[in-house]
Amino acid sequence: NKQVVLKNYVSGFPKESDFEVTTTTIKLKVPENSKNAVLLKTLYLSCDPYLRGRMRYSPVTDPDPDFGSYTLGSPMSGFAVAKVVDSGHPDFKKGDLVWGRRVGWEEYSLVTTPECLFKIRHTDVPLSYYTGILGMPGITAYFGFYEICSPKKGERVYVSAASGAVGQLVGQIAKLMGCYVVGSAGSKEKVELLKSKFGFDDAFNYKEEHDFDVALKRYFPEGIDIYFENVGGKMLDAVLLNMRFRGRIAACGMISQYNLHQPETIQNLTNIVYKRIRLEGFVVVDYFDQYSKFLDFILPCIREGKIVYVEDIAEGLESGPAALIGLFSGRNIGKQVVKVTDE
Ligand code: NDP
Repeated sequence: NKQVVLKNYVSGFPKESDFEVTTTTIKLKVPENSKNAVLLKTLYLSCDPYLRGRMRYSPVTDPDPDFGSYTLGSPMSGFAVAKVVDSGHPDFKKGDLVWGRRVGWEEYSLVTTPECLFKIRHTDVPLSYYTGILGMPGITAYFGFYEICSPKKGERVYVSAASGAVGQLVGQIAKLMGCYVVGSAGSKEKVELLKSKFGFDDAFNYKEEHDFDVALKRYFPEGIDIYFENVGGKMLDAVLLNMRFRGRIAACGMISQYNLHQPETIQNLTNIVYKRIRLEGFVVVDYFDQYSKFLDFILPCIREGKIVYVEDIAEGLESGPAALIGLFSGRNIGKQVVKVTDE
């Protein structure tokens, strides 16, 4: 059983040498003492920025199974798409396709909390989509936009990390709603993708801008109603200067800060007060119980071609570490997936 393990705790930017691919042997059977568990064959692993938080040392002895630090030398875990090989749980049987969390970065993974898995019932769409548009990032984009941003038709929406797993979907949902949408991303190719493939009204490469305030004023001369925050730091600071009265900021993530020893200071927070800005954080797990509502919305959009999705698929478990750390330099174009096997 091939596994990706964390070799040492990370400070600063993660490197491939922080990980190791090892092999163990396992029986392809749920052990007698693990009643209710399911044994999964991993098909697709999801590379997600929050996994960076799990690579840091934490003195807590009983870490949170979803967000706590990894145990060195043990397989990493996270979101994945998998097939049931053996089941001790009455709701799952051999051959079922599932997606969910707490799945190991390994070829076969024993999941002792099958309540964290969703059964995959629609297979007319690519299975890998359940790591992205039909999985955790999709739920994040949908509820983050509709519930946290309280959008109205015609409002001016800005999305950062806009070509990524979450951002590309936020932009398209906002367009469907009749908003004016501008996205930023870190390369010319991604900017092109935002405009030509995802239908953003406009887009810019933040790496070519010396002054984010000037850039935002170019695209939002009348200010921003909604900011879908994926990056934090200097971008958030510039956005605060450009928010409109009663604007809303959905604090989804702040990837620019995840590898810093010292987080950047935000200078322009007072704008929140006099502009009556609502800045609200959210975490996707709080919306998992509404998954079927989200599927009812998104599946027809995909089938009718109203929403498209771009994935970046790395081949083989061994490519996992490089694919994961690539998120922090923007190497991925679209949702970063690792294909372990497709059968
Ligand atoms: P992406 O697919 O967008 O990948 C990350 C992207 O972030 C990279 O491709 C890169 O794109 C960009 N990036 C990396 N470093 C920086 C930096 N220093 N400054 C600006 N941009 C950077 O990831 P996701 O769509 O999965 O995640 C997007 C955000 O949403 C993250 O902050 C993540 O933590 C958050 N998130 C939050 C959830 C929640 O429940 N609140 C759930 C899921 C995700 P580029 O080339 O454009 O720089």
